[in-house]
Amino acid sequence: MGAPLYLHPRLAPRSASLTGSTAFLHALADGLGTPLNVVIPEQIAENAARFDEVFRHHRLKGTTLFAHKASASSALLRRLAATGASVDVSSLQELQHALASGFTADRIVATGPKDPAFCWLAARVGVTFHVDSREELEALVRLARTDGTPRVRVLLRLSGFPSAGVRRLTRRSRFGTPVAGVPQLLDAVERYPDAVELLGVGYHLDTTDLQEKALALEGCVKVMDMCRARGLGPRVVDTGGGFGVSYLAEAAQWEAYTTELTRAVLAQRPPLTWQNHGYGLRNEGGTLAGGLGLYPAHRAVAGPAYLDELLRTRAPSLGRPLATLLQEHLYDVYAEPGRALADQCGITLARVLEVRRDDEDPGGVHEHSGAWQVRLDMNAGDCPLEDHGILIDPLLVPRASGPSGGPVPFAGGHSADPGAGGDGPVGVYLFGNLCLESDLITKRLVFLPRLPAQGDLLCFANTAGYCMDFGAHEAEQRPRARKVAVLPGATEAGPRWRIDADYWPLPSDEETHQAGASRQEEANA
Ligand SMILES: *Cc1c(COP(=O)(O)O)cnc(C)c1O
Repeated sequence: MGAPLYLHPRLAPRSASLTGSTAFLHALADGLGTPLNVVIPEQIAENAARFDEVFRHHRLKGTTLFAHKASASSALLRRLAATGASVDVSSLQELQHALASGFTADRIVATGPKDPAFCWLAARVGVTFHVDSREELEALVRLARTDGTPRVRVLLRLSGFPSAGVRRLTRRSRFGTPVAGVPQLLDAVERYPDAVELLGVGYHLDTTDLQEKALALEGCVKVMDMCRARGLGPRVVDTGGGFGVSYLAEAAQWEAYTTELTRAVLAQRPPLTWQNHGYGLRNEGGTLAGGLGLYPAHRAVAGPAYLDELLRTRAPSLGRPLATLLQEHLYDVYAEPGRALADQCGITLARVLEVRRDDEDPGGVHEHSGAWQVRLDMNAGDCPLEDHGILIDPLLVPRASGPSGGPVPFAGGHSADPGAGGDGPVGVYLFGNLCLESDLITKRLVFLPRLPAQGDLLCFANTAGYCMDFGAHEAEQRPRARKVAVLPGATEAGPRWRIDADYWPLPSDEETHQAGASRQEEANA
């Protein structure tokens, strides 16, 4: 098996404290079953404040919008409604959710492909539209005129930014109007001043490439100039999302893992993955081919720091820092993080159902002979980290440390044989609970500090963004994971919590402890 190759998750203080609350997590999982999602509303408020701080630092008037599609949690959305942040919605249901969670229309932007009902409600309540094309703009005009909705505020989503000099490979996007088509789009805007108001322009690029984003941001500033030359008065530049998250605690583990994965694909070491899956890499006659299709799980610069770096970057052709260009024109800057705002905002728990060794092939002829298999009470859709190319180790939350400190025996079934690799580090494959060959939670051998036992929990950290809700479905009529939100302040039994749908950021909940403490102080005085 070789030395263990760990990929330890990065844990911010709230996540660290939650994942360390062993007895609490077991009590929750016992009561509500697994898979179980636990969100941390206070964290999303802190994350939004950090983005706002970057804008303040650059003396920019900025707005942070949460890309709702990253999480369906009511608790996270409602907590965010109690901050200055706005929200980016991409379906009728997300719009309804945002309105019902306390966001007023001036704090909502409708984005993505839109169906008629979504457009109707959005226009009716007066949210801002991210407009993809001239066709969409004209459909909005028809809606505003026939329905008598208020004048619709629009942000034009642009793509295909040209670069001077060396041709950069700019990603083709299905979305947005290519910059070359902007004059015609602006003609349309000018034709319908009764129906649409141009708020600004923007882009969303699903890339980590800073230079590509700098090109797009500069391109937007140039289009804003073009608008002003025509007498239009836009004031917003929207920098989209994609600020990213650093999932791993240690860069060195990521380096070591990807190096060894490459060697495994080239058969220079024993396989690290199920059927020597290469995550995009292939061995073609001893030569490495393909590309690693993984999220860069350790990132030196991500989230608000990435926004900061982008604003410091010099505009590719205008030469001055992008923040300076935006500041000079007094433009408002929007940022639409999804993943980065949900960073550290939740965990997913799964019960260990069975631990066994693949000993079908005692001769050890086939490659996984002797590998440990851990079956979890969840399926791949409940925690699709790997669908997003994210590799992180789950944390082992042992059953054994109950509140009394003594080991808690777990009845029934056959548990792991501690004599066979039970005490030290061990590599395991994680399987889901579906009756399906492909229901692997991880395609890779996951190294754990010791072999889990039936009844233990595995805790997947940092799953609030895209993992809790994106892939979940009711396969085999199994219920979807329940979701709970933890409140600030803990009791002796652990953190206080609510069912996600029943969470509201009420002052009485937020401050119970502080208020209790200060009342105590008053009484003592
Ligand atoms: C998905 C999306 C985002 C958020 O992207 P992240 O990578 O999660 O930050 C922002 N804007 C638009 C238009 C999107 O579609």
